[in-house]
Amino acid sequence: MWRFHGDANILEMSQHINEKIVIHEKRQKWSQYPFRTIQEMKYCDKGGNYRVICSVYAVDTINGWYYYACVVCQNKVIKPTILFAEPEVPSWWCEFCQRNVTMVTPRCKLDLLVQDQTGESKFTLLDSVAASIVKISAPKVMKGLLEKVEIQAMLPPEIVGIVGKSYGFGISFDENNNSSGLEKIEAMKVWGLKDILWKRTKSLHQNSTTSRKKQCTNVFKINESG
Ligand SMILES: [Zn+2]
Repeated sequence: MWRFHGDANILEMSQHINEKIVIHEKRQKWSQYPFRTIQEMKYCDKGGNYRVICSVYAVDTINGWYYYACVVCQNKVIKPTILFAEPEVPSWWCEFCQRNVTMVTPRCKLDLLVQDQTGESKFTLLDSVAASIVKISAPKVMKGLLEKVEIQAMLPPEIVGIVGKSYGFGISFDENNNSSGLEKIEAMKVWGLKDILWKRTKSLHQNSTTSRKKQCTNVFKINESG
């Protein structure tokens, strides 16, 4: 037999419910966007938001997997090219602030090479989205990793671990990039495979219910005219 033990449990439970509602609201937003294969996304659609289920077959390391951002403006900073003497405090150049800055924070940025049965693509995941897939969000964790991994092209095991796995991506596809062939596709949301397959099943069921309703209406109209 299960019983409540005081207010603490009730409070805990109401917090839990609140969390659930918040999560539900966030998900609600994506549920209105259709599922697409990579091929459909590339050739049939004119930009927009889609949900795509695909597997990560590689991580593109050409641009590294992280960057440093200015803590003031959050824009990417660059290292000064040549230094004759190493300064006591390392500094970076912020193009946006137009000055040297010393306060910077590492941010995750992943270029994932993905594929499904219909084709291949490259999804870019920024900061919090990238962190949600590799679970290395906190700057502290990032810094710890950066100390271990000296070479930018070398990937920490947390990132290597996602290669070969399938996910659901909530992507934003810009139609202007579509024509150039060099599409820049940003993933705004990531779901685990189990989660996204369930969502797709739900979405397919909803679609079939809607089309059945339409069919019924058509039959009714035919009967009426005939
Ligand atoms: Zn700045």
